[in-house]
Amino acid sequence: MSQSWNKRTQAVHGGTRRSQYNEVSEAIFLTQGFVYETAEQAEARFLECGPDEFIYARYGNPTVSMFEKRIAALEGAEDAFATASGMAAVNGALVSMLKAGDHVVSARALFGSCLYILENILTRYGVEVTFVDGTDLEQWKSAIRQNTKAVFFESMSNPTLEIIDIEAVSKLAHAVGAQVIVDNVFSTPVFSRAIEQGADVVVYSATKHIDGQGRALGGVIIGSEEFIRGTVEPYLKHTGGALSPFNAWVMLKGLETIALRVNAQAETAMAIAETFENHPALEQMMYPGLKSHAQNALVQSQLGGKGGTVLSMDIKGGKGAAFAFLNTLAIPVISNNLGDAKSIATHPATTTHQRLSEAQKDELGITPGLIRFSVGLEDSADLIADIERALDVSQK
Ligand SMILES: *Cc1c(COP(=O)(O)O)cnc(C)c1O
Repeated sequence: MSQSWNKRTQAVHGGTRRSQYNEVSEAIFLTQGFVYETAEQAEARFLECGPDEFIYARYGNPTVSMFEKRIAALEGAEDAFATASGMAAVNGALVSMLKAGDHVVSARALFGSCLYILENILTRYGVEVTFVDGTDLEQWKSAIRQNTKAVFFESMSNPTLEIIDIEAVSKLAHAVGAQVIVDNVFSTPVFSRAIEQGADVVVYSATKHIDGQGRALGGVIIGSEEFIRGTVEPYLKHTGGALSPFNAWVMLKGLETIALRVNAQAETAMAIAETFENHPALEQMMYPGLKSHAQNALVQSQLGGKGGTVLSMDIKGGKGAAFAFLNTLAIPVISNNLGDAKSIATHPATTTHQRLSEAQKDELGITPGLIRFSVGLEDSADLIADIERALDVSQK
């Protein structure tokens, strides 16, 4: 493997290891355990397990290891630990490094289950959590203090797609020795340069763009070898959040095509955003790639100008209009995943964010008319025609 390869090459070849048959496509090692030639070999492996050696699939497995090495190479990091879901990754990254008495600063705009971990779980074990508006550097500055052990945020927030400045927040965190953990799902491994920009740990739900075809759950924690093997692995191998070898294989195959898929999806998202930016049925079109997006300068520097594969639109007329829009769409499915080859439309106020209070929804910009739209791989002209028709019906 070459460290100097660019992302698209790493996504296809990174981490490949072949069995004695020299197969071209990665093998699925659907095995829980591994056989030792002798009792002495078993003893030696339990004493010290080398990088090409395995004991039990909860600790590691060759197919899972290929996925870990490939995503680490793609992200420009030393190592990674794969998990059963994105939430096992978020939980594993945080809980493995924190103890009672530690302080965490987190952005407020979070995926629901991430919010639950920070607000309801960590606090139960004596970790203090301060929430800030992630786009406001002054709030980060005043919240971060000497005993702050970690900062946590989603680099692009769900569902209003605000961007958090990884470099600036990392500088503030590193000044007190705090670790920066970034949930990078919406930025995708294709557009991310989070490690280079200062993040210590990057977390993905592989369920989203890494699979990219809506089949399997998975997650991954990416960081330094010391953090992954010294902190994350001991926690996860004993608590059981391991990724299955079959799902690791699905994710490996997903990585081979991720750059093509995500670039095509982002191109279509941009075309949709530009087409409907000033449409009379919309209060607002939210897409970070738009030149008119309030944070476009940050999108340029942090994401190379790429706005990702998701856009959000606030439809005039509230819930009734939003539901009419959803029920008229012929191509996108109504669901709550994202990053899929199939376009997916979601009404956050009544589904993914239903549990929030009205005040919390207001604060996060989750209006009754808001639709989150994950752009798939369909023909862009077909999607535009479909959206146009559904917007017209929404205003009748
Ligand atoms: C989906 C998602 C998760 C959780 O991932 P799962 O694979 O569903 O467990 C965490 N964070 C963000 C930003 C997500 O979009």
